[in-house]
Amino acid sequence: MIQLYIPLNFLGVIYREIKQALADIEKMFVLLDRQREVADTADARELAVSSAAVRFDDVHFAYDPERPILHGVSFEIPAGKKVAVVGPSGSGKSTLARLLYRFYDVGAGCISIDGQDIRTVTQHSLRKSIGIVPQDTVLFNDTVAYNIAYGRPGASQSEVEAAARAAHIHAFIAATPKGYDTMVGERGLKLSGGEKQRVAIARTLLKNPPLLIFDEATSALDSTNERAIQAELEAAGQDKTVLVIAHRLSTVVDAHEILVLEQGRIVERGRHDALLARSGRYAEMWRLQQSAG
Ligand code: ADP
Ligand code: MG
Repeated sequence: MIQLYIPLNFLGVIYREIKQALADIEKMFVLLDRQREVADTADARELAVSSAAVRFDDVHFAYDPERPILHGVSFEIPAGKKVAVVGPSGSGKSTLARLLYRFYDVGAGCISIDGQDIRTVTQHSLRKSIGIVPQDTVLFNDTVAYNIAYGRPGASQSEVEAAARAAHIHAFIAATPKGYDTMVGERGLKLSGGEKQRVAIARTLLKNPPLLIFDEATSALDSTNERAIQAELEAAGQDKTVLVIAHRLSTVVDAHEILVLEQGRIVERGRHDALLARSGRYAEMWRLQQSAG
């Protein structure tokens, strides 16, 4: 018995190590999958963020060369201001967010932050400065604590919890048997779209970067949760540079500029009141949403 026990125990250790190694490899592939589209240049520098002013200058882009998606998009987000993008599904809104986070490189034109072309800086320094709440959040196969702290490695348990509270996901986590140690992701506890979105919001609130991208960040939430979390996002975005892709127009009323995107082109732009006065595309979208309640 004793002789058997030792090798079995040894196998157990090996098994756990292999399992961990596989989990790590899997994590790496999730990241690689996103990153293989772009590469740091040999002389890439660290992004030096002073005020986090963003500029899209005549940006063209296609996922597939046969099918151009963006046709010369230009806009600026002055330091500490919020610019909103609205428009029909498929018009290229999320693509703008992905390009700013540099999941892909522009086909032509330039995106810069504080005057630095984002292709000339390291991806690490770029992504450290940006918090993104994507439309569809993919969680790591790890604990919920890991998933939230991912935005700021080394964050304390109380910081993680504070972020979770602000994102209205703390009560849900606390009600699971293992709490913050609950495994999530494909092989762990399956979270709903809204729960995943709140984990991503908690991660971003904890990260607290100078530049924020919200891509329909509350679209998967019910309206009560949405309103409460919207207030948290507003607070988090104070004095930060924010690119917000909005599905609910009430969240863009106060934007410095609203861009209406259609088929990869900005077809209208301006402040809420001015756009309403134009009685164009934006005014029509606004009217439809008001009547839909
Ligand atoms: P929006 O966010 O405004 O709904 P997207 O930016 O997601 O639009 O998509 C714009 C267009 O690009 C759509 O026609 C979409 O099908 C296409 N698209 C999005 N992602 C990819 C991809 N990874 N590969 C190929 N085409 C894509
Ligand atoms: Mg989108």
